[in-house]
Amino acid sequence: MAKYTGPVCKLCRREGEKLFLKGQRCFTPKCAFERRGYPPGEHGRQAQYRRRRVSDYQKQLRAKQKTRRIYGVTERQFRRYYRSAVKKRGLTGINLLQMLECRLDNVVYRLGYAESRAQARLLVSHGHFNVNGRRTDVSSMLVRSGDQIEVREGSRNRVYFKDLPAVAEARTLPGWLERDLKTLSGNVLQMPERRDTDATLNEQLIIEFYSR
Ligand code: SF4
Repeated sequence: MAKYTGPVCKLCRREGEKLFLKGQRCFTPKCAFERRGYPPGEHGRQAQYRRRRVSDYQKQLRAKQKTRRIYGVTERQFRRYYRSAVKKRGLTGINLLQMLECRLDNVVYRLGYAESRAQARLLVSHGHFNVNGRRTDVSSMLVRSGDQIEVREGSRNRVYFKDLPAVAEARTLPGWLERDLKTLSGNVLQMPERRDTDATLNEQLIIEFYSR
């Protein structure tokens, strides 16, 4: 599946906030948003001083783009998630966020086994993880309640995974997941709820965007 390969810090600058797409770097003074907190492009610097009325469409578009960029999903995939969220029972916005949160790359990131979702995606696509005992390299796979995710036996001896327990321990684990750092595994205890996702996301605006 396609993925965005351009400069990611520009995405934060476009959204006007830090999206934390680069792991540790986002917490250092090297963060591009800290250094140039205005939109990218030739007129970006002037744009920060311009006062413009923000249209409803702009608000909806930005809410959608921000969510899409945080989870590293293409427009096509995102629209597909939206369509299945509409078909599912319950609130469309919650269904949509739940699906994004249940992506395997996001789960690996939430478990603390990767610094960013982009890194998690790479680790998954290189086949370092098993889901329910079976090797998988599909980062868009949606996990379900009861699923078990673990670093594959053959990968555990790699330097990255050997150092991982100490690094992962410092990361907060959401309530819908549990992990065992000794075996580098994790379990999905239940499906994520709205409070388990980023509170700054606005699913209502995303729905408005797609139902125009
Ligand atoms: Fe965004 Fe992280 Fe780049 Fe800062 S370092 S601009 S938070 S991706």
